[in-house]
Amino acid sequence: MSTSDEARRALEAVYARVEARAADISSSHDWWPCRRGCDHCCRHLAAPLPLTQLEWSYLEEGLQQLSAEVLEELRARVDAMAGQEARPYTCPLLDRETGACRVYAHRPLACRSYGFAAARDGGLFCHFILDLVGRHGDADIVWANQDALEDAVARLGGPTRPLPEWFVEKVPRKP
Ligand code: SF4
Ligand code: SF4
Repeated sequence: MSTSDEARRALEAVYARVEARAADISSSHDWWPCRRGCDHCCRHLAAPLPLTQLEWSYLEEGLQQLSAEVLEELRARVDAMAGQEARPYTCPLLDRETGACRVYAHRPLACRSYGFAAARDGGLFCHFILDLVGRHGDADIVWANQDALEDAVARLGGPTRPLPEWFVEKVPRKP
């Protein structure tokens, strides 16, 4: 197996761990708010999504499954983001009509762990979840460790760049 195959499998293993933790948390708490169509997090990015090179390669496979028309729509959104001074950002990969992610199966760590992980200082990220945890308590929740996950993905190699930079450089324009 090549080094890149090993890195790819290691990345999938990290993603699988996050998915398992997220499924465990949400399935055991009937008040858990994350669901398809809840797109507040995708519409309120403090900064463009950061992706390692390996994560970009993975996400690119999801982009390759989209039609040329949708890809051009995403490109227009990426271009608009570059000139946007106001914050927050809406992710260019969000289907704004359905509130679903266009590349859900290939989304990066930041999107998989958001809401289900705590920072080393115990900080949570989604204010909906923070509010519900305030009401229900989180003593029985085993949060994923956001910093450890980011370290694990970063160790797999390659530079980390914002999504728009990867997109502009790697997704060919229509001739
Ligand atoms: S993390 Fe928050 S905003 Fe995002 S899907 Fe979950 S509840 Fe909704
Ligand atoms: S990649 Fe998908 S899940 Fe992540 S912020 Fe964008 S639309 Fe949301």
